[in-house]
Amino acid sequence: METTAIDGRMFVDGQRSWGSSGSTFDAIDPATGQVFAAVALADHRDVDTAVAAARAAVDAGWAGLPPVRRVRILNRLAALLREQRAEFARLESLDVGKPLRQAEDDVAAAAGYFEFFAGVADKVFGSSIPLGKGFVDFTLREPLGVSAQIVPWNYPLRLASRGIAPALACGNAVVAKPAAEAGLSVVRLAELATEAGLPPGVFNVVTGGRETGAALTHHPGINHITFTGSVPTGIAIMKAAADNVVPVTLELGGKSPNIVFADADLERAAASSATTLMQNSAQTCTAPTRLLLESAAHDRFVDLLAQRIRSIRLGRGLDNPDMGPVVSERQMRRVLGFLKSGEKDGATAVTGGGRSEKPELARGYFIEPTLLDRVPRGSLLEQEEIFGPVLTVTSFESVDEAIAIANGTPYGLVAGIWTKDLGKALAVATAVKSGQVRVNAYSVEGSIGLPFGGYKRSGFGREQGVEALANYTQVKNVMINFG
Ligand code: NAD
Repeated sequence: METTAIDGRMFVDGQRSWGSSGSTFDAIDPATGQVFAAVALADHRDVDTAVAAARAAVDAGWAGLPPVRRVRILNRLAALLREQRAEFARLESLDVGKPLRQAEDDVAAAAGYFEFFAGVADKVFGSSIPLGKGFVDFTLREPLGVSAQIVPWNYPLRLASRGIAPALACGNAVVAKPAAEAGLSVVRLAELATEAGLPPGVFNVVTGGRETGAALTHHPGINHITFTGSVPTGIAIMKAAADNVVPVTLELGGKSPNIVFADADLERAAASSATTLMQNSAQTCTAPTRLLLESAAHDRFVDLLAQRIRSIRLGRGLDNPDMGPVVSERQMRRVLGFLKSGEKDGATAVTGGGRSEKPELARGYFIEPTLLDRVPRGSLLEQEEIFGPVLTVTSFESVDEAIAIANGTPYGLVAGIWTKDLGKALAVATAVKSGQVRVNAYSVEGSIGLPFGGYKRSGFGREQGVEALANYTQVKNVMINFG
């Protein structure tokens, strides 16, 4: 990709801008460690401008527009995204490091979010409540106003779209802040939305890191916050929201168990595990990185999975390997730190276990795809979100033990279950404390319609599906005495 082709400006009030200070930060290709673009660094003045533009757009009529017009704009945006899939995928692959094929899937998923929420934009129904003769009572679902969206670096385009599509569908305006590590596709998305007919100011993007994010989440002009990212940042954002008394939707990652019973189709379960490991180098909040294996299936499953993992080809995302680097040097150090702690705790590396030693990958942030066996219960490796290509294995003897291990972390986002006995699957599905349970498949076409969100420290609020509309509307009750 030509570096000169990449525009690092933010997008505020329908225009690209270098911001008030003109300061920039570097966008780094994680496959080479090379700078590929200068990105505008938004300060509190730029955040002020973006929030004011969003407010003005709401007041100028976006919130009151006939919903069918929002339907048309969101569908047009989805169509443009699909048309420009290759361009968006190349930018995402370069920025995040993920294989081009996976980035193309992300663009399709982003378009899918806009199509799904275009489909419900004119179906945000209220209800009527009987009060007896002479009275009529009904509810209206009204937009909140300005939604601040703090986006993480692992799936900038897909996760931005997950929150922004329902926000716009319900008549809110948005100020998004992607991560400094990767987020250029989000700025391009806002520009494309304007080309699709979105009025200026409805969708703004300020670029920068933690300070820009904090300026936005503390801003008195916002009415709502959506955040996806780490637990500590989620806590900081909740505190900012408390000061402003605005609602928050938090998705704080997971440590998803993948429970494999001995009667499962082990080949299929192992293939699924290897795929989720390669997917974005397992920098995925839903990644089922904690394998819980019934002892009778342990050896066979570990063999099957290790064979698959050993064949994973590492490389630069733009060259379409099986797996790319992790997003940044900081993230690589973080993951290597987890691997060190695993060694100390007595875990055994079946395959992988460190930074890739291939000379052609030496400048990038490549970690070998890793399978760690005998990971002790309660160890850091077993408890914390690693967010790198590392799967851990713990064995269990009974259904009750599997449930206890599955529920034994502070997280509760997704749980995978593999068994041919659907009675057993249901028993585990109802006992496990997580927002989603997936039985005998970890991904499915149409998942945008499935409500998604956390139990425990994985957060709260539900994204995707019609449930997401609750995050972006407030209910007004109107009572009329006409007697
Ligand atoms: P982070 O949670 O700090 O960053 C996510 C987003 O929040 C970024 O846009 C960042 O700029 C912004 N941010 C940071 N501090 C902020 C603040 N005080 N106020 C407002 N916005 C703020 O994540 P990280 O430090 O980049 O990654 C650390 C770990 O977080 C990862 O290893 C992973 O475990 C987890 N993570 C989870 C997800 C997920 O999808 N749930 C995504 C990214 C990271």
